[in-house]
Amino acid sequence: MYINLFDSHVHSDNSPEGRDLVTALCSAAVDKGISGICITDACDMEEFEEQKYGKRLMYSCFAAHKAQDIFSQQLIVTNGVEMCQPLADPDRAVQVIGENRFDFVLGSLHKTRKYGDMMMLNYAHPALDLQDVFRSYYEELLEVVQWGHFDSLAHLGYPLRYLKPYNRTVDLAQIDDVFAEIMKSLVAQGKALELNTGGLRMEIEAFTPSNKYLQMYKDYGGEMITIGSDAECCNDIGCDIQAGLELLKSVGFKYFTVYKNRQPVMLRLL
Ligand SMILES: [Zn+2]
Repeated sequence: MYINLFDSHVHSDNSPEGRDLVTALCSAAVDKGISGICITDACDMEEFEEQKYGKRLMYSCFAAHKAQDIFSQQLIVTNGVEMCQPLADPDRAVQVIGENRFDFVLGSLHKTRKYGDMMMLNYAHPALDLQDVFRSYYEELLEVVQWGHFDSLAHLGYPLRYLKPYNRTVDLAQIDDVFAEIMKSLVAQGKALELNTGGLRMEIEAFTPSNKYLQMYKDYGGEMITIGSDAECCNDIGCDIQAGLELLKSVGFKYFTVYKNRQPVMLRLL
């Protein structure tokens, strides 16, 4: 039983998919006995203007700062961003990160140039070459990692979440070469890997990534794991963080990591 629970991936109503206000999320976190949360609203660089992400992030940071004051006695609240598809406009992504003075930046990829949104893809289509879909995804994710203007790599198993309902399988071992490059680059740059618990609330019913990739990151010398629920509402905040910490311990990690002012803070897995 861990007492130091910190949820480093939370969406408020400033994300297109988020449903609740930052204050409501904070209140729910306090009720659940969580020590801290990082508000990581989305910023999709492909649709920056269209979705008014500049304004969304301004509101998100404002709300997170206000919540830091209001909840200061009960909860740590930090402000972050889930930077999605940064390579759609890498210079602007860097500018957005600089302007908002985030505590924490998640590097994220939901869509590929070749196949679009991994969440929307019809994985049942017989003409779809699943190996190519996944290889393309991870090759592009490697480009995001090499770009490097983030702190932790979000949900490494992201497309697996959406493949699951189609009852088709992909042999990820065939792209272990790309995973190895991702891990080496993360470690060389001192970047964290995220353990995302969101998949446990989906049909896949699994952490993303799975033990294998946590172990791979560790084997390449990686020590920094952030953990987040990917919550989009009060009900999901802090979900399975406890189980995630237990998983990290079982893989052999001694710490988990949270970020403040873009600096890692290592918290012992006690
Ligand atoms: Zn995401």
